[in-house]
Amino acid sequence: MINKINIKNLTFADIINYFCDKGYPKYRAEQLFQWVYKDIEDFDQIKNMPKNMIEMLNNDFYIDRAVIERKQKSQYDGTAKYLLKFNDGNAVEAVLMHYEHGRSICISTQVGCRMNCTFCASTIGGLVRNLTCGEMLEEVMVVERDETAKISNIVLMGSGEPFDNYDEVIKFIRIINDSKGMNIGTRHITISTCGVVPKIYDFIKEKLQCTLAISLHSAEDQRRSEIMPVNKKYSISEVIVACKQYTEETKRRVTFEYALIKDINDAKEDAHKLGNLLKSMRCHVNLIPVNSVEGKTYLKSERNTINDFKETLERYGIETTIRRELGSDIDAACGQLRQKYIEQIN
Ligand code: SAH
Repeated sequence: MINKINIKNLTFADIINYFCDKGYPKYRAEQLFQWVYKDIEDFDQIKNMPKNMIEMLNNDFYIDRAVIERKQKSQYDGTAKYLLKFNDGNAVEAVLMHYEHGRSICISTQVGCRMNCTFCASTIGGLVRNLTCGEMLEEVMVVERDETAKISNIVLMGSGEPFDNYDEVIKFIRIINDSKGMNIGTRHITISTCGVVPKIYDFIKEKLQCTLAISLHSAEDQRRSEIMPVNKKYSISEVIVACKQYTEETKRRVTFEYALIKDINDAKEDAHKLGNLLKSMRCHVNLIPVNSVEGKTYLKSERNTINDFKETLERYGIETTIRRELGSDIDAACGQLRQKYIEQIN
């Protein structure tokens, strides 16, 4: 495998270049791309290429696949959490959720994370490495294979900070969106960030129609910096200015995620601050009852508090939803399954 490249790390344009460099016509690139995203395991399965071409592909490339190391399925709602292992032994989590409108997968973008949000399990142990775009594609493909079903929505909201692995994430979006391959519309892709402001501006320039989600969790800089160290670098107002530009350029509303943590960010006053911050924006707030993580002391807000928080925001004209707690019986919060796995193998 040394010197061979995972074919899923090549965009369609890269594949065209490859064939053109070898003196072959462009339609060969299209054929190869289509076969790869029909999920062949082996280049020998390609039916419309001559033997010598397949041999050439075998010499230059391999088709990477992830292994399902563990799978937990919720008995309540069918949510399935996968621990997926790549060929260097590192494992990440992906979660498959069933909605009325189809299947949605939440994928990881890094092994671990270096953003250090205090309530998040992914950050325990820091960043191990970035995932390649091919590995992110395989997170989707291995789950489709396992379920023998097509996934319609992608959320980049698993372990890792997508904007800390920017180039691979963009390549992933472009490949999965390609109509010759998996053909998932960018409007069906949500990218969630803790607020890496310069990358939000880069993302605007990509001119993609993805939903941008911001993990806000507090409307007050001091509190946000305590729970999300990234805020010391990029303040709330800088994040908001970038988001306003995103909505202006894309005409898409931004989603703000707000994990409600008992006695930390769930007071009435916090809801008013958030309402004032967002009232003039085209946005949507998703309230998430915080998931308790082993070794961390945060508790979920009371149901009444959550409902009151929602009502307060709605009085500011902000559309607010409370996230359904899917998979609560299967450690579906970010990074928890991987954390348990690491503890067991060590
Ligand atoms: N780094 C990106 C994406 C990964 S985290 C980001 O920060 O957006 C995905 C979402 O889950 C974020 O909103 C994150 O703040 C939230 N999250 C992390 N740990 C959580 C927990 N214990 N309970 C509830 N939400 C959590």
